[in-house]
Amino acid sequence: MKSLQEQDRELYDAIHAEKERQEGHLELIASENFVSEAVLEADGSILTNKYAEGYPKKRYYGGCEHVDTVENLARDRLKELFHVKYVNVQAHSGSTANMGAYRAVLKHGAKVLGMSLDHGGHLTHGHPLNFSGIDYEFQSYGVSDENETIDYDDVLRKAESFKPDLIVAGASAYPREIDFKRFKEIADRVGARLMVDMAHIAGLVAADLHQNPCEYADIVTSTTHKTLRGPRGGIIMTNDKEIYKEINKTVFPGIQGGPLMHIIAAKAAAFKEALTPGFKDYQRRVIENAKALADELQRLGFKVISGGTDTHLVLVEVKSLTGLTGKKAEQVLEHVNITCNKNTVPNDPEKPFITSGIRLGSPALTTRGFTKDAMRIVAGLIKKTLMNPEDEEALDEVRDEVAKLTGTYPLYKA
Ligand SMILES: *Cc1c(COP(=O)(O)O)cnc(C)c1O
Repeated sequence: MKSLQEQDRELYDAIHAEKERQEGHLELIASENFVSEAVLEADGSILTNKYAEGYPKKRYYGGCEHVDTVENLARDRLKELFHVKYVNVQAHSGSTANMGAYRAVLKHGAKVLGMSLDHGGHLTHGHPLNFSGIDYEFQSYGVSDENETIDYDDVLRKAESFKPDLIVAGASAYPREIDFKRFKEIADRVGARLMVDMAHIAGLVAADLHQNPCEYADIVTSTTHKTLRGPRGGIIMTNDKEIYKEINKTVFPGIQGGPLMHIIAAKAAAFKEALTPGFKDYQRRVIENAKALADELQRLGFKVISGGTDTHLVLVEVKSLTGLTGKKAEQVLEHVNITCNKNTVPNDPEKPFITSGIRLGSPALTTRGFTKDAMRIVAGLIKKTLMNPEDEEALDEVRDEVAKLTGTYPLYKA
């Protein structure tokens, strides 16, 4: 067989260029990470050839004995990782996992209370253009004005007046620990079920560095590709056997057809890694590095939302110090090979496409081996860039510093 390089030069070159970009840029997107070579190998394996609609031992196709082993490995490791009884590893993405979870416990049109999108929630937590906002009646809670953290008393008040069928906890741009136990108490008070979407923090939970929602929630979803450092995909978990049966039905045949067996294999490989002491140490460094980044940005005069972080994520208001919008800041940083995304900050006066802030995360750089000192250097480079957006000489200097850092901490050796 011909290699991709021989057969399709155009495509090969694009993939190769992306590899160079990943190697040569500072990756600060909080939802991204770099998988291990083992995960990559499983992800790119011949399992992509196999149809396996159904679940282990209950398939609609023949020849499934080996993919059954693969899926059972993924399931058993996932249960061990989060100390949970029942899991579904087939969701193609975090969004699909959420769709499967909602459908397992809600009727069309049911009431759901989730975190406001401009305070850190996710599209699948009720955005009007997303299936969640179309299929269910959402209301939202947010963070308090004083300390920019979730106001649980306000969540309770809103739950008492709205009487939701389901409360969703979990976020995409929230830097603080979330008290899932407290959420469960609120859900119980109003007779709602609790779903936790731990897409961003699953790696921290796996390493016992964040409260484990599986202890409290009726249903827990996650992506596998963020802090958890696996392939792109989703998972759904529960300790309730009846809910589990519903989840399996909603994922297949409800939403999806054949599972992505190569991705499930890569999930299994990632879960095995996540069970090692080395992974725990990695997550500890993820948090330390995020804290170092937040501290240094604050010392340099930036307004860091909620005054810091407990997690892998730092939300920075850039406009008051630099005069730049989040959108412009993202562009200028991209120009010096620093990758991040613009993000609304609580009560942002700018529109969601413009914003006053940027969202930064430490998982990807920590995977490369970045230390706290390196993160402080990165904070300095961000400031230098955003204070001198038109000064090509200053921007050149930053680019040189970025190249030095990426050279010191190489990504894939081969
Ligand atoms: C990233 C994310 C998702 C969606 O994951 P996709 O794989 O991009 O569909 C869902 N919920 C939260 C909280 C997220 O951060």
